Amino acid sequence: MEFEKQNMEAAIEPAQSEHHSEAADGQAQAADHAQKDHAPRRRRRPMNRRPKADTAQNGEVQEGGQGEAQETAQRTRSVRARKPREFREPRAKEGQNVTRQPRRRQAQVGMEQEAAAETRKPAVRKPRVKKESTPVEKETRTTTQARSGGRRGRRDPRPILPVPVSSPVSPRVNARKEGKGRLKIIPLGGLEQIGMNITAFEYEDDIIVVDCGLAFPGDDMLGIDLVIPDVTYLKNNIDRVRAFVITHGHEDHIGALPYILEQINVPVYATKLTMALIEHKLEERGTIRGTRRKVVRYGQTVNLGCFKVEFIRTNHSIQDAAALAIFSPAGIVVHTGDFKIDYTPIYGDPIDLQRFAELGKKGVLALMADSTNALRSGFTMSERTVGKTFENIFAEHANHRIIVATFASNVDRVQQIINTAYKYGRKVVVEGRSMVNVVEIASKLGYINVPEGTLIDIEQLKNYPPESTVLITTGSQGESMAALSRMAASLHKKVTIVPGDVVILSSTPIPGNEKAVANVINELSIKGAEVICQDTHVSGHACQEDLKLIYSLVQPKYAIPIHGEYRHRIAQRDLAQFMGVDKDNTVILNSGDVLAIADDYFQVIDHVPSGAILVDGLGVGDVGNIVLRDRQNLAQNGIIVVVLTLEKRTNQLLSGPDIVSRGFVYVRESEDLLEEAHSVVVEAVDDCLNRHLNDWGRIKTVIKDSLSDFLWKRMKREPVILPIIMEV
Ligand SMILES: [Zn+2]
Ligand SMILES: [Zn+2]
Repeated sequence: MEFEKQNMEAAIEPAQSEHHSEAADGQAQAADHAQKDHAPRRRRRPMNRRPKADTAQNGEVQEGGQGEAQETAQRTRSVRARKPREFREPRAKEGQNVTRQPRRRQAQVGMEQEAAAETRKPAVRKPRVKKESTPVEKETRTTTQARSGGRRGRRDPRPILPVPVSSPVSPRVNARKEGKGRLKIIPLGGLEQIGMNITAFEYEDDIIVVDCGLAFPGDDMLGIDLVIPDVTYLKNNIDRVRAFVITHGHEDHIGALPYILEQINVPVYATKLTMALIEHKLEERGTIRGTRRKVVRYGQTVNLGCFKVEFIRTNHSIQDAAALAIFSPAGIVVHTGDFKIDYTPIYGDPIDLQRFAELGKKGVLALMADSTNALRSGFTMSERTVGKTFENIFAEHANHRIIVATFASNVDRVQQIINTAYKYGRKVVVEGRSMVNVVEIASKLGYINVPEGTLIDIEQLKNYPPESTVLITTGSQGESMAALSRMAASLHKKVTIVPGDVVILSSTPIPGNEKAVANVINELSIKGAEVICQDTHVSGHACQEDLKLIYSLVQPKYAIPIHGEYRHRIAQRDLAQFMGVDKDNTVILNSGDVLAIADDYFQVIDHVPSGAILVDGLGVGDVGNIVLRDRQNLAQNGIIVVVLTLEKRTNQLLSGPDIVSRGFVYVRESEDLLEEAHSVVVEAVDDCLNRHLNDWGRIKTVIKDSLSDFLWKRMKREPVILPIIMEV
């Protein structure tokens, strides 16, 4: 991977090796170009590039250590809520800043959500299978219940869509005066939404941004491909933004970069694999040339304005993950990113605990640690333990074909499957687009080691007896379009599940995907396969004892739990207090909060705009609550279009009314109903014409009301009614 060396290239030198073994740098990487799968369907639009921000003094990298609608879709509900809204031009600008008490909403970042990021595909329009009650959904449901009791006429407003939550704050909140000498930490996302991790660090005239992730759309965000953070605050302070610093290559940490960089074109700093993944995304979007990128090694430090940011080696479910030591004039903040402690990682070295300890000795102002597993006691197991499980399963099932489903970006996992297959003399087939990409790119970069002759093409599968083959595939989350789901549903062109097949699910369902996964397991079992999911996965996040270790090494004055649902962050807050952090020195932040800290100061002093921007195809932010509400309406109730032609001057009915419907009733079986509906409309039109109504708006309203009343009485349904009057 090349990167531009202009401008920002000041000095990049090898990391200090005194406590930073270089070994892993070379190997601990492989690419999850799984990403391809996740690309929004239609990409590539000409980019509107800003002039480069002046970063003259920035970008130095120092040595380490110091400083750093179809009929079929119809669904009926017994009682309809609310009158369908019409297609009306939105009054407010759609998409952005739909103000709605953001703070009420609790965080809901699923465990291993980054894994969700890897495996779910925003690009493909598919029925979303996920259906668990997240807080947001609950909210919607409550409203639905409220609605269902209501009669027509006194209906509650539509459910509040869990979308853009932007807080009403003056755009340039920038308490620079009060903030003198204080570091400001401003999470712009990631605390209320799934994914979308992005946090700004601000000290006087300098802002750096850690991570820039996306979130995947909720079930009710119909047609939305993905969700990116609202960066209004950064845009309003663009002259002070120095860089994006990225912890690792999961979608919830890098996914929004291609979009945000188009608005805030500042340099990006990341480790090698992370950068390769980012570059892949930028290439897809055609914006790679305009982006200044810098690969940073573990132990190196980047100078960004008054900040210095050091990259520290950690372990995670993707290689090349880094924690950050952010040196500011107010003190050192340690940001762990997503991490686990793996003393025996498959590739590379264990997490650089020595460095954490050194920083602790120096004195750390605040620790921002991954809360994902803060509710789990004990230690997180090493990735290596999964390899043992694979060995046992392979040994026990020597006479059967084995299919393993896992996350594409977990290259270490794929490596272990390949190792085991090799040991047992099996040929390996890699299936599923993202999986194929990963293995290809990872082996090209040298991060995965495939013994020669082990990999075979799926076409060759038939040339080998089933018991000497292994398939590695995507679909461990029950994603309906992924290879495993297609195999389970007998939709896969090349692979048919037969009795005796052994299917290993090497993952745990991400919260929300349980049902989809259960469905796949059921389907596989019905076809006679044995499904194994015991001990076939370990988490990529630190459990309680690991967190305690980090706390005791880092000894922070303040604790700011990040990455996790609200309950997880609360758990870490309690743990921090247990570990000796003063109760008043811990905080649970909300997105948009401005936390000012200094040695003697720790307080949320302000709130800046934050929230979610929806991406639908090439449109970024043009779809908001109003469009979504229409989409929901159409999806739930269908549409009826009434077309009629009037003569210009005489206002005589020349043709129609014709009634066209979609998603309302199956027309061929509802001729009577439509006939009646037709006469209702004819009557309404006649009535208008007899009264010499010239105002077409009025005529439309009369048509709509009478048809709507009729359909409600007859069917208790409320389709969207769209009258169209043509003039001749
Ligand atoms: Zn994450
Ligand atoms: Zn992650």
